[in-house]
Amino acid sequence: MNSKRELFYRHIAMTSPFPLGLEIVRAEGIYMYDPEGKIYIDLVSGVGVSNVGHCHKKVVDAVKEQAEKYMHLLVYGEIIQSPQVLFAQLLTKQLPSTLDSVYFVNSGSEATDGAVKLAKRFTGRHEMIAFNKAYHGSGQGPMSFLGDEEMTQNYRPLIPGTRFLDFNDFEQINKIDKNSACVIIEPVQGEAGVVPPKKGFLAAIRKRCDETGTLLIFDEIQTGFGRTGELFFFQKENVIPDILCCAKAMGGGMPLGAFISSKEKMNVLTQNPILGHITTFGGHPVSCAAALAQLEILLETDLISLVEKKAQLFVTLLEKHPKIKTIRNSGLLMAVELNSLEENEKLFELLTENGIVTDPFIFKENAFRIAPPLIITEEEIISICKTINYCLDNI
Ligand code: PLP
Repeated sequence: MNSKRELFYRHIAMTSPFPLGLEIVRAEGIYMYDPEGKIYIDLVSGVGVSNVGHCHKKVVDAVKEQAEKYMHLLVYGEIIQSPQVLFAQLLTKQLPSTLDSVYFVNSGSEATDGAVKLAKRFTGRHEMIAFNKAYHGSGQGPMSFLGDEEMTQNYRPLIPGTRFLDFNDFEQINKIDKNSACVIIEPVQGEAGVVPPKKGFLAAIRKRCDETGTLLIFDEIQTGFGRTGELFFFQKENVIPDILCCAKAMGGGMPLGAFISSKEKMNVLTQNPILGHITTFGGHPVSCAAALAQLEILLETDLISLVEKKAQLFVTLLEKHPKIKTIRNSGLLMAVELNSLEENEKLFELLTENGIVTDPFIFKENAFRIAPPLIITEEEIISICKTINYCLDNI
C-alpha cells in the first residue's frame, strides 16, 4: 500500500514545489504530533487561525453537538439557524452600531470579494483603491486588489479599476476621490512582513473617505479575533470602517468568513437583482457553533489582554541575537527579519528539524512569522526562544 506521504505527493494539488510535508495525526493547544509521536510547536496558528489553540475542548464540544443536530440545511440566508444568529448577535455586540449586519461566507477571499461588491453597489462607483504589498486572497476579485505585480501578472486580465497607493504614505491619500467606490486596506499589513500603520494614517484615510463618499473596508482577516491585543485592530485606533472583513481565526478552526456592515448598506444586496450575491455554505452551522464557542472563550478569559505582554517577552528574548535585523509586531502578529533570504531558508529548515513550525511572508522574503495561539504560556515562550536562538547560532 502507498504511504500517506506518497499519496500526498501523488494526489494533492500543490501550491509550490516545496510543501512543508509533515504528516500530523493529532493537534492540541500549540502542539501537533506526527505518527511517530514527534512533537511540533505550531508557532503560526495554522497561519492566523488557531487563536485559542488546536482542538480547544469547548470548541470541539460545540462542533460535535451541532453536527449531531443538523449540518447543512439550505443555501445561505433562508433558514433561521441558532448558531448563526447567536454568533452574529454576540459578534456585533462587540462592534460599533454601524457594524450590525453580518454577511457570512466561507473564507477570507470571499469576504473581501463580497465587501468590494457591496461597496460598488452602494456607491454606484467602480474604482477601487488598494495598497502595494497588500494581500486580500487568491480569487480573481481579491487578486485584482493584490498589490504585487509578480503575483498577479500571469493571471491578467483581472478586474479593471484598481489604483494602488503606498501604505503609510500620507501624501498619496488625496488620490482617493469621488470616483473611488472603496478603499480596501489591511490596518496592519500582514504579508508585507507585519507593517503597522503610522500614527494617524488610518484616521487620515477615514477622513478622506468621508470627504469623497468612499467606503472604507478594513481587511482584519489576519489581525482579527484578538491577534493584536484587541478583538479587532481598529478598536485600538478607534477608526471605524464601513465594512469589516473577517475569516481565518473567526471559525475557531472551522472554515468561516464574513463581511460586516450596516443593515442599511447590506440591504442593497437584496435587490436589483435579487440574489445578486449568494453562497451555498456561507455561515455553515457547524462553523458558526465553533465560532460562537471560540468568541465566548476570548471574551471570558484574559487571553486578549495578555497578548502585549507575551509579545514583549518574545521581543526581549530574541532581539539581541546578532543575526536578527529587526522585529516588527502588532501584538502576537510578529515578523522577525534576518539579513537575507538564504539565512531565512536555513533557519526555517533548522526550526522544523527542532520541532518548530513557522511560515515565511509572501512579500518579505528575509523574515519569518511568529503568530502562536494566544493560549501560549510564558514558560513555552521562554523554551521556544531558546530553540530559536540556538537555531540562529547554527545558520
Ligand atoms: N486577507 C488577508 C489579510 C489574509 O491574510 C488572507 C489570507 O492569508 C486573506 C485575506 C485570504 O483568506 P483566505 O485564504 O481564507 O481566502
